[in-house]
Amino acid sequence: MPDVLKVALIGNPNTGKSTLFNALSGLQSRVGNFPGVTVEKKIGRVQWGESKVELIDLPGTYSLAPRSLDEMVSVNVLLGTQADVGNPDAVVCIVDASNLERNFYLFSQVLDIGLPTVLVMNMWDVAADRGQKIDAAGLETRLGIPVVTCSAHKKTGVSEIQAAVERAVAAGPRPVASFFPTVFVTESQSLAEKLSGWGHPNFAPYLLERLLLDVGGWLESHYGGQHAHELFQYLQHARERLAAAGCKVPMIEARTRYAWARETLKGLVVQPATRAVTFSDRVDQWLTHRVVGLISFFFIMLVVFLSLHTLSPPLQGLLEEGQGWLSSQVAFLIGPGPLRSLLNDGIIAGVGGVLVFLPQIIFLFLFIALLEDCGYMARAAFLMDKLMTKVGLSGKSFVPLMSSFACAIPGVMAARVIENRRDRMVTILIAPLMSCSARLPVYVLMTETFVPDIRWLGGVVSLKGLTLFFMTFFGAFVAIPVAWILKKTLFRGETPPFVMELPSYKWPSAWIVLRRVFDSAYSFVTRAGSLILAMSILIWAAGYFPGNHQESDRLQAQIEDLEKQPEPPADKLATLSEKQNELTGALLETSLLGRLGHAIEPAVKPLGWDWKIGVGVIASFPAREVIVATMGTIYSLGGDVDESNPDLQNTLKNSKWPDGRPVFTLPVAISIMVFFALCAQCASTLLVIKRETNSWGWAVFTFVYMTGLAYVAALLVYQIGSRWA
Ligand code: GDP
Repeated sequence: MPDVLKVALIGNPNTGKSTLFNALSGLQSRVGNFPGVTVEKKIGRVQWGESKVELIDLPGTYSLAPRSLDEMVSVNVLLGTQADVGNPDAVVCIVDASNLERNFYLFSQVLDIGLPTVLVMNMWDVAADRGQKIDAAGLETRLGIPVVTCSAHKKTGVSEIQAAVERAVAAGPRPVASFFPTVFVTESQSLAEKLSGWGHPNFAPYLLERLLLDVGGWLESHYGGQHAHELFQYLQHARERLAAAGCKVPMIEARTRYAWARETLKGLVVQPATRAVTFSDRVDQWLTHRVVGLISFFFIMLVVFLSLHTLSPPLQGLLEEGQGWLSSQVAFLIGPGPLRSLLNDGIIAGVGGVLVFLPQIIFLFLFIALLEDCGYMARAAFLMDKLMTKVGLSGKSFVPLMSSFACAIPGVMAARVIENRRDRMVTILIAPLMSCSARLPVYVLMTETFVPDIRWLGGVVSLKGLTLFFMTFFGAFVAIPVAWILKKTLFRGETPPFVMELPSYKWPSAWIVLRRVFDSAYSFVTRAGSLILAMSILIWAAGYFPGNHQESDRLQAQIEDLEKQPEPPADKLATLSEKQNELTGALLETSLLGRLGHAIEPAVKPLGWDWKIGVGVIASFPAREVIVATMGTIYSLGGDVDESNPDLQNTLKNSKWPDGRPVFTLPVAISIMVFFALCAQCASTLLVIKRETNSWGWAVFTFVYMTGLAYVAALLVYQIGSRWA
């Protein structure tokens, strides 16, 4: 046995692979990305007797035919050519026992690679419930490799996998007999000679097969090197020769593999004479019904969102209280000055800005995990498929996008369920357009202050309410053409037909649900957290330096001394606070941030904005809602105002351009709201996009396209609005 046994796990989506991986690896797993691609790299480390074992969880897939660099990762891992993984000693192929024939397509490709292989028939309980009888021992004899039956969610059969892997490794590499007709094998040998002549000897037989089979695949355009064109032509001729010999690619692959699957399973699987109508079938009559199903779906989503809005705020409040307490302790220990400001306004506010999203993430993932684990999510995707195909996506994009209405971060993370890379990318890129809860303070401030108080129907319907409602869905409307354009340009290609097994309903497992919630919360805090903190400190420094804070600190100390008195003199305190707020406002104006605001004024003037709004926009890069506090500081009201503060609302109403015109008019207010609806002012989201796509490029792309869109839309709104008003 090698020192560290490397075992790769592969299987179709929804076969219970993640459940099995977690059951095998316990809590000892590490999640990262394979270098240079968007594929998640999940490694579990366990001890099996004497041997250390490294479990490599490969992404769920229906086929090992790479169409992109991402899909090439699994092939590379199995062939031992993925540098950061090395040579695997064995592969465990997980199949759904209740659907063996279809799952054997991928399994036959795995066998083609020639590694010591173990077949795990998971969902054994489902097969049993359906009355299927499978002769596992017979299958083991026929295949000549270890076969294990398993119900991963109940952890039954999991411990047998260890012995099976050890047996497979002890037996060594398997001789690979091609599944394909002789003419194909001959063609594949000639291709090997050709490649060898071009300086590529020792091409893995599996890759040769793929080169011949995958018309327009990733390999044919990436393995030719300087002979790319010749290779392309050679393959075209080879495929013509194959077609002439009755072995047409790519059809031959499905035909051959399914024929093999049927032959292998012949006599070993006995289906029940009549398929019993199960509990799931009865429930599905309603839940996947065209009308009742949709109504139930919207009702379930409504419950999820209402719960999210009621459950998160108390926790968020608690976090904010904790943050307030910590700040007051800092203020108690450290006098006014740069250190206190760095700790309170930079670090604690920065960390708080990250943690405040945590309750939303936890609850949303709790609901997603519950709905997913009980089997409902597959139905939701099925129901939404028709709607989503209109913009070129599939039903699987619906839940991530809907989640983004609370917060784009869990939404972007939830896009992991989409196997098709193009659809996943488009979903990630449009998710931040959905209106998240951080936009609300901006909308509330602007509507409350500038939208006239007009009411209809006895006050039930108000213009302010309608404006809020419209703003909430504005981003989603804009997302429709954006998705359509992205699918027609950068991510062109067919969305694969939506094939999805509807799993049986079952009680969700607390262990699986909690594990998912923990994983997402942990990865959010550790990945996004550190960078957001750095960014918050940078923005803090830009707003603090350069500037002489002595006078402002002295005033602050005076205020704090007065507040300590048993009966603080209210008048004096008010005068001092006013003076101090004026000073901090002036300091912000002369700081780097203020100067930047002035510098960008020519660019934001066409939107109807002055430099103060410019500063607000720059300062709210880490998070949109920061604009409210920044406006408070810049208008000399202090940074602790909120969106419904009447002083702030009045100050905004009274603020004037040097020529005496009011700065804030209705078109300006709408232009600000439209800008915030479409802009990417959320460092956390951008960092999560970077993490999920494993590329700064896509984070920058999102920022650029959204800011561009926001600018143009705000410009149009202001220019048209101010002429019309
Ligand atoms: P993956 O897409 O292959 O990673 O599948 P998951 O591990 O996410 O499992 C999909 C669903 O099947 C989850 O709800 C699991 O709880 C459930 N599941 C996993 N293994 C079994 C099993 O052996 N029997 C049953 N009935 N459900 C299972």
